[in-house]
Amino acid sequence: MPFRSLNLVEGIIRAIEDAGYTEPTPIQAAAVPLVLAGHDLIGIAQTGTGKTAAFTWPLLTRLTSPQTTSEPARRPGIRALILAPTRELVVQIEENVRAYGRHLPVRLALVYGGVGMVPQIQALRHADIVVATPGRLLDLMGQGHARFDALQCLVLDEADRMLDMGFIPDIRRIVSALPRKRQTLLFSATLSREIETLTHEFLKTPKLVQIGRRSNPAETVAQIIYEVPAQSKTSLLIHLLRDSRWNMVLVFTRTKHGADRVARQLENAGVSTATLHSNRSQNQRLRALKDFKSGVVRVLVATDIASRGIDVDGISHVVNYDFPKHGEDYVHRIGRTGRAQAVGDAISFVSQEDYAQLRAIERFIGRGIVRKRADGFVPAIPKPQAVLQHSGRPSQPHAVQREPHGRTPGPFAPARGHQGNSRRTFKHPFQRERRIGNGS
Ligand code: AMP
Repeated sequence: MPFRSLNLVEGIIRAIEDAGYTEPTPIQAAAVPLVLAGHDLIGIAQTGTGKTAAFTWPLLTRLTSPQTTSEPARRPGIRALILAPTRELVVQIEENVRAYGRHLPVRLALVYGGVGMVPQIQALRHADIVVATPGRLLDLMGQGHARFDALQCLVLDEADRMLDMGFIPDIRRIVSALPRKRQTLLFSATLSREIETLTHEFLKTPKLVQIGRRSNPAETVAQIIYEVPAQSKTSLLIHLLRDSRWNMVLVFTRTKHGADRVARQLENAGVSTATLHSNRSQNQRLRALKDFKSGVVRVLVATDIASRGIDVDGISHVVNYDFPKHGEDYVHRIGRTGRAQAVGDAISFVSQEDYAQLRAIERFIGRGIVRKRADGFVPAIPKPQAVLQHSGRPSQPHAVQREPHGRTPGPFAPARGHQGNSRRTFKHPFQRERRIGNGS
């Protein structure tokens, strides 16, 4: 489908051409006509599907097309409000809106916590479109800095995440200050019962657009498991990073402390690295993302805070350094690569203690994940316990044990006389294919 048939305003078509996109994604093809026609909309789609553009393009078209601007009812003031759960996400949405609106006369305000209010207050005075996290916006509204009398459109992005993060009471208070006559668009990765309840509360006779299934990772992502003892994960990562194709690598750890530790170890090994987690200040987080996007650092080590919604083009590899606890986290993490038409690799390090979880996640995504060994990687095999020698000092840890012919036993190679593990005989009960991007 050509972009021109979407009836978007010319400035957006130009911006799309600038971006080099060749055709609309399924959510864009489905959602744009509905939003342009003025319907309320529930969009069920994960990030990576092009959903930001799916609401931004028609929204900008409606705000700037001649029919709308010449209407006498049009008043100056904020005409669209986009709410999203995290600071990173609002920054990213604002970047998208700015890029798609670059040939259009729209002014944006970006509102999120953790930074000074004054520039945001100034931006709000002149903004047509506000992209905000709920908490800070509510503060500014309370101080009389944001008025929404002229509002035409409200977008709730990542509504499921906002629900999880406890933002619904804040959103309720914000919505109560908006005109009742407006268009409302709600996007969520899932259509849970709670989300459905919210749609009744905030939307009027909405249309539903559903793209793909919630538990399906982007089909372009190649997923691989490396079995590795916990204590060898960093050396495996450093080994893999010798491959120059690993040029933009997002690494997930379970804890903030773990993220800092891995980052330190990578830096010590000469790999430029930044970290992204909630102990970092807002400026540090933005800086880390900026350095990662611009290639100043090659690796970004993050906790799950970065796994949702963060849109960084060109990530070559996502590494689950620590295996995620929940299927949804897995899907969101690996969704950071293989976005849109790019192809990426998602690598998970799995130690023995992760096996039950791995099986649960394979069931969740509906297929087995390929096990692989890293060529040439030789994990050091730790001794279970230091043995006291005659000298009374602990013996040195073992060097790498080699099998005849220079082969190294894999990290989970069966002990002698043991019946082996399931690696070779692995069969997955859920090998069936699932359709992706099949629409509703
Ligand atoms: P989103 O799902 O909004 O986070 O977008 C995912 C990525 O897809 C972003 O990097 C967009 O720049 C990109 N994108 C959006 N629409 C298209 C399109 N029609 N063709 C190619 N890439 C796109």
